[in-house]
Amino acid sequence: MPIADGHLHPNAAKGLGAEAIAERFRRSGGWFMALVSLPPSSYDLDSPSLEAYSRVIDHHAKECRRVNAVKVVCLSGFHPADVDRLIDRHKLEPLQVLSLAYRVLELVELKIRTGELDGIGEVGRQHYKTSSTRALISQLILERAMEISRDLGVPVHMHLEQEGEATVYLVDLAARRLSARPQLLLFHHAEPRVAREASQRGYPSTLHGVPRLIEYAIRSLEPSFTFESDYVDDVRRPSSVSPWGMAEQLLALRGEEEKLYRINVDNVVKLYGIEPP
Ligand SMILES: [Zn+2]
Ligand SMILES: [Zn+2]
Repeated sequence: MPIADGHLHPNAAKGLGAEAIAERFRRSGGWFMALVSLPPSSYDLDSPSLEAYSRVIDHHAKECRRVNAVKVVCLSGFHPADVDRLIDRHKLEPLQVLSLAYRVLELVELKIRTGELDGIGEVGRQHYKTSSTRALISQLILERAMEISRDLGVPVHMHLEQEGEATVYLVDLAARRLSARPQLLLFHHAEPRVAREASQRGYPSTLHGVPRLIEYAIRSLEPSFTFESDYVDDVRRPSSVSPWGMAEQLLALRGEEEKLYRINVDNVVKLYGIEPP
């Protein structure tokens, strides 16, 4: 059974880097990873500028394209937590953050056109309490990403609050207004209620690959999702789930081959338009 990791963050500056992760994942049964960049602060680039984001995108795209051991897609975006970080820590005005985010997405769009990136991630809404201005700014950034997805036909990894039907409905409303394609808009780190609702409306999702969710999802959810480790590659702060740990868990399941194939292969092939293993 080939195993996919639907969302993780390699970081050669702090951890193993994409190539070493891919090699170890392949040895554990992995065939595919969606690699998502981290905010500039995670690469020790803490200046709140377009330059910092541009360096992150270049670094991530290069790290990502070097991977041979498994198939990968490379995504970059503007995380909703960046909105808060730039205002709180860097004292940017809310409208400066919005303008910076739009310019970052313009750059992401350019890199997708040149083939250096394959999609957008993460964008979305804060999963914690924040101000109404910051929440609205995050929504506008998400909507800009939806427009790029619509125009270029590329996937978006959405980081969102987990409020079941409301979360999915509020994404769906914007997607319909913008004529974006639901099949390309992925609810990342979805709780089962969000994943179920998303699936009913034609959206893909990824579920965190922890034992509790793996067991529940295999038993009770339509297999229209993929599992993700959301691994953050940092030797000093080890993630609770690794791609290889997750692969081991999935490969230990017995009698679920058909479901597992849909989850690990069919859904990946469909979302990213790549060849199966
Ligand atoms: Zn996230
Ligand atoms: Zn993530």
